[in-house]
Amino acid sequence: DAALVWFRRDLRDVDNTALAEALRRAQRVYCVFVFDRDILDILPCKADRRVEFIHASVVELAAALRARGGGLIVREASARDEIPRLARELGVAAVFANRDYEPAAKARDAAVAARLQADGIAFEDFKDQVIFDGAEVLTQGGRPYGVFTPYRTAWLKRLGEDDLRAADAGAECGTLCAPALPPLPTLVDLGFAPTGLADLGIQPGMQGARATLAAFLPRLARYHEQRDFPAVRGVSYLSVHLRFGTVSIRQLVSLANAVRLGRGGEYGLASTAEAAEGGRVWLSELVWRDFYFMILDHFPQVVARAFKPECDAVVWETGAAAEADFAAWCAGRTGYPLVDAAMRQLAHSGYMHNRLRMVVAAFLCKDLGIDWRRGEAFFAEHLNDFDLAANNGGWQWSASTGCDAQPWFRIFNPVTQSQRFDPEGRFIRRYVPELNAVPVRHLHAPWLMSAAEQSACGVVIGRDYPAPCIDHAAARTRTLARYGVLKAAA
Ligand code: FAD
Repeated sequence: DAALVWFRRDLRDVDNTALAEALRRAQRVYCVFVFDRDILDILPCKADRRVEFIHASVVELAAALRARGGGLIVREASARDEIPRLARELGVAAVFANRDYEPAAKARDAAVAARLQADGIAFEDFKDQVIFDGAEVLTQGGRPYGVFTPYRTAWLKRLGEDDLRAADAGAECGTLCAPALPPLPTLVDLGFAPTGLADLGIQPGMQGARATLAAFLPRLARYHEQRDFPAVRGVSYLSVHLRFGTVSIRQLVSLANAVRLGRGGEYGLASTAEAAEGGRVWLSELVWRDFYFMILDHFPQVVARAFKPECDAVVWETGAAAEADFAAWCAGRTGYPLVDAAMRQLAHSGYMHNRLRMVVAAFLCKDLGIDWRRGEAFFAEHLNDFDLAANNGGWQWSASTGCDAQPWFRIFNPVTQSQRFDPEGRFIRRYVPELNAVPVRHLHAPWLMSAAEQSACGVVIGRDYPAPCIDHAAARTRTLARYGVLKAAA
C-alpha cells in the first residue's frame, strides 16, 4: 500500500509521528506540503516573517527527504481541494497527518477527510505537537481542567517514558517515494517578499532549531532566575520552532524532565540543584503550552468569547480617544517606556519577551480599557510564534477573562514592572533610543522629570518622546469600575 504524509506545522523529518507511522505501516510513502492559498491569501502583509520561515523550512525539509531517497511534493493551492486530488492522483490508500487543534484547521481536516472517504481513502491524524492532548489529562470526574496547577500535577503524574520516546524509534518497513518533482516555488513565486530573517538572527528549519537549542542549553540552569528580564538572554527563543514543528516537543520535554530530575548529565549539562530548578521551571512553561492547546480543543468558543462567559459583560472603551490610544499602543508611542520598547521589539523582530507580553497586554486592557481581542488580533498579525491557543490563553489571562487568569482587580503598574524587570533600563534604551540621555532614575517614568531636568538631558517630553497617553492611577480606578460588573454578577 501507499500512503501520503501531509506536512503542516510539523516541518521536520525526525521524530515526526505521522511520517514515522506511515513508514511503519505503508510500503511506499509520499510526502507533501501545500502552501495553502486559503491561508496565504488572507495575510494582510505580503512581507511576512512567518511565510519566509515556513518557506525556508520547507526547502530544508525537501532536501532532508531527498537525502533519504524520497522527496517533498510542494503544491500551492487550497489544501482542502489539493490533498484529496493528490491522494487520488497518487493512488494512495491513506493520508497521514499530525493533529491540529485550531477550530479552522479541524474544520479543514474534517472536510478533507470527508472528501477522501468518498474516494475510499483513509485520513488518519496523530498526536504529535503536544505530549498529552485533550482527553488524556482530565480531572477525576473526567472533565477538562480549568486551572493550571492541578493540571500540571496530573500531567506530570501521567508522564512516562513512552510519552517521550521519539516517534521514529521503532522499525520501519516502508520506503520514501521519489516522484519526479518540479523546482520548489520561491518566496517571490508565492507572492511574498523576503523579510530579512537572517539579519534578525532567526535561523529557520531543523538546523535553526538545533542551533537555538544548543545556544540555550548552557542557560537552562539559570532559566528560573533570568527568564523575567527582557534585557538578558534568559529564555530559549524556541517558540517559533515549536510553532512550525522544526523541533519536536518530545525532545524538549525529555530534556527538561531529565534536567529537572537531576539527570542533566545525560545531556552534558550540570546535575546540580540549581540546574534542576531551571529544568523544573522551563518544563512548567512547556506544560502551559499543552494546557492552552487542551483548552482550545475543549472550549473552541474562546476564539471569539471570554472563557468565563460573565466577562463578556465588561464594556470596553470605544470612540475616537480609544482609537487614538490603540494606535499609540500599536506604534509603541504610549509614553510608557517599557510598553513602547516592547511594542517596538515586536515590530522590529516579530518576537516579544514573555514578561513584556504580559505588561503590554495588561496595559491595553487595564490601562487603556481596550478589548483584549483587539490586542490578540494585533499579536496574531505580528508574532513570528503566533499560536492561536497560547495567544488566546495569554490574552485572556492578562485580561482576567480566561481560565486560571490573573484576578481582575490585580492591575499591573507599568512603571513598577519597568523598575523591577528592566532596572537599569537596558532593554528600554535598546528600543527607545530617544530616551538614551535620560538618567536611569527617570527612565521608567520620564514625564516626572522637571522642566529643568528635561532640558539638562536634552529630552523634552511631548517633543522628543510622547507624554503618557493615560494616567495610570485614574485608569486603575476606571478599570476597577469597569470590571465591577463581575463583582455584581458574583
Ligand atoms: P521560553 O520561556 O523558553 O518557554 C519555552 C516554550 O514554552 C515556549 O517556546 C512556548 O512554546 C512555551 N510557553 C512558554 N510560556 C508559555 C505560555 N504562557 N503559554 C503557552 N506556552 C508557553 N506563545 C506562543 O508560542 N505563541 C503566542 O502567540 C503567544 N502569545 C502570547 C500572548 C500573550 C499576551 C502572552 C502573555 C503570552 C503569549 N505566549 C505565546 C506565551 C509566551 O510569551 C511565549 O511562548 C514565549 O515568550 C516564547 O519565548 P521562548 O520560546 O523564549 O519561551
